[in-house]
Amino acid sequence: MNELEKLNALRDELREHNYNYYILDAPVISDFEFDFKLKELQALEAKFPEYADPNSPSVRVGGAITKNFETVKHTMRMYSLDNSYSKDELLEWEQRVHKNLGNTAVTYTCELKYDGASISLSYENGRFVKAVTRGDGFQGDDVTANVRTIRSVPLQLKGDYPAKFDIRGEIVLPFEGFEKMNAIRISQGEEPYMNPRNTASGSLKLQDSALVAERPLECLLYSVVGNDLGISSQIEMLDKAREWGFKVPSIAAHCKNTDEVLSFIERWDVERSKLPYETDGVVIKVNNLQQQEELGYTAKSPRWALAYKFKTEQAATILEKITYQVGRTGAITPVANLRPVLLAGTLVKRASLHNADQIAKLDVREGDTVFVEKGGEIIPKIVGVDFSKRDPNSLVTEYISHCPECNTLLVRKEGEAQHFCPNDSGCPPQITGRIQHFISRKALDIEGLGSETVELLFKENLIANYADLYNLTKEQLIPLERMADKSADNLLKGVQESLKIPFERVLFGLGIRYVGETVAKKLAKAYKNIEALMNTNLEDLMRVDEIGERIANSVVDFFSQELNKDIIRRLQAYGVQLALTQDQLEGQTDKLKGKTFVVSGVFQNISRNELKKAIEDNGGKLSSSISSKTSFVVAGENMGPSKKIKAEKLGIPLISEQEFLEMI
Ligand code: AMP
Ligand code: ZN
Repeated sequence: MNELEKLNALRDELREHNYNYYILDAPVISDFEFDFKLKELQALEAKFPEYADPNSPSVRVGGAITKNFETVKHTMRMYSLDNSYSKDELLEWEQRVHKNLGNTAVTYTCELKYDGASISLSYENGRFVKAVTRGDGFQGDDVTANVRTIRSVPLQLKGDYPAKFDIRGEIVLPFEGFEKMNAIRISQGEEPYMNPRNTASGSLKLQDSALVAERPLECLLYSVVGNDLGISSQIEMLDKAREWGFKVPSIAAHCKNTDEVLSFIERWDVERSKLPYETDGVVIKVNNLQQQEELGYTAKSPRWALAYKFKTEQAATILEKITYQVGRTGAITPVANLRPVLLAGTLVKRASLHNADQIAKLDVREGDTVFVEKGGEIIPKIVGVDFSKRDPNSLVTEYISHCPECNTLLVRKEGEAQHFCPNDSGCPPQITGRIQHFISRKALDIEGLGSETVELLFKENLIANYADLYNLTKEQLIPLERMADKSADNLLKGVQESLKIPFERVLFGLGIRYVGETVAKKLAKAYKNIEALMNTNLEDLMRVDEIGERIANSVVDFFSQELNKDIIRRLQAYGVQLALTQDQLEGQTDKLKGKTFVVSGVFQNISRNELKKAIEDNGGKLSSSISSKTSFVVAGENMGPSKKIKAEKLGIPLISEQEFLEMI
């Protein structure tokens, strides 16, 4: 097999494994083997850029950036569904169907109503070409690049599919992945996401598809639309879509009459709690497509379908007080403190109110009787107010204007839902939050020191920032409550051990807003030591791969503050690692300092990745696109023609592999 055949064979093989894993839930190889093969494919694709394919299994890792989501008209309108909440409403609908169709037999398909973000996918000749959000039903946003990264969206179909069609479904975020994402956010001091549905639809509008690829989204399909599909019923449509490689839940059932429909509803109202993703009802559809056509549509929705909404368990209770929490980054979260009430088996005392807009939208006030519901989120939410029980003298909730912890005037940035306390150096929960982040496992990993001890040390005026940790003495610790001799020793030992933690983790630990683990690594590599980073500017930062304006601004802002500079000087004096070690610097030079490179094409003596590494190791910066800031384009064989034209237009020198190697 030559390398090109190998490339194609790998694509086919990976597609099949993807299908086994994400559609059938029955993987036949280990994740490790899969990753290995994927890397092999990526290497071959880098070598043969002329065989690039937007639908290759390698695109699942993302990378494409969408700056503006284009508005696209749906080929066929995406309708909404009429809702019903009771058996009676369901029976009324059935009667209307019969009345409209005359005296013919009608059967139904029942499916679950998946609670996510609606999507329409377009396929041509078996290849995925486009994904558009529902929008207003007539037109939506083109989110193709992001949807490509969702593993259960087939990029290449199987079997006997129509040449051209759209398929509709719902992009959902299963509970498990949602909770994992939130655990990470909480550990980084950020606000947890509200619920899986909002997070799923928010994900579709992220600019960086690599971030979408990291989210465990799934796409569940339920409706094929197009001309001459050769399909005569809804249930057949589901079977066909499944055969073509789509993820179509097998829960759907063909019901002969309303009794069967009702027992489907009863059964799934209970069993849905075992499903990995959220559902909020059953969608009942007239099974025969001919009959569907006869029934047609109202202005908003099909007459041939009805959503039966499950009743979510609700409880009514009194909202005693609204309090406000301050996070590590200064973000304010309003909390509803409730008169304890039993809901779905647990005693609920608190519910999140999210932000000022949410409070205004619900018009919720202290003393109100409110309805609490447990949805996909971890924390219960308030869904409404029982206005009939409202005290006529109650006052509209006025959102706090000052920080409840330090009394600083709160700010709210353009476009953000959350209020912030800007007093990051003097606001107690922000101070302790930052220290807690500094000592956390992925940062300085200081064993023997927990969150509560940090609060205690702060309260006792022993620490006011993370540099103070390195000043602690045993004499100071021993008199503290619950601090045994041994724990004091452990704490001090943990602090000493943290001097071994490498620069990139220290940089992460500093808690600069938006500088997570990955960004910290990039910055450590690009700047090599803290002085260089402290002395840099916005422009220079933005030349670093993957550092955008938002991060760059935050870094510059952090290092411009005297207090931070002072803390860093102290960390340096205590021996905390604030530069890459000799080992890490091995083979690194400054030869390409200040120069930005774009790499394009295939190379003879060095792989693309080696070339990129050589650029970074020698102090150069990598960029993925050519702009006026590019110093050189290292051009290999088969360089993309558009890149060539752009480089020529901007007068940026093209250099060969040989010329590059001579530079270093
Ligand atoms: P609504 O947004 O409440 O009007 O409900 C209509 C939406 O339900 C549709 O636009 C679909 O996105 C969604 N939906 C979820 N599951 C299904 C399903 N099995 N069949 C049809 N629509 C569904
Ligand atoms: Zn404050």
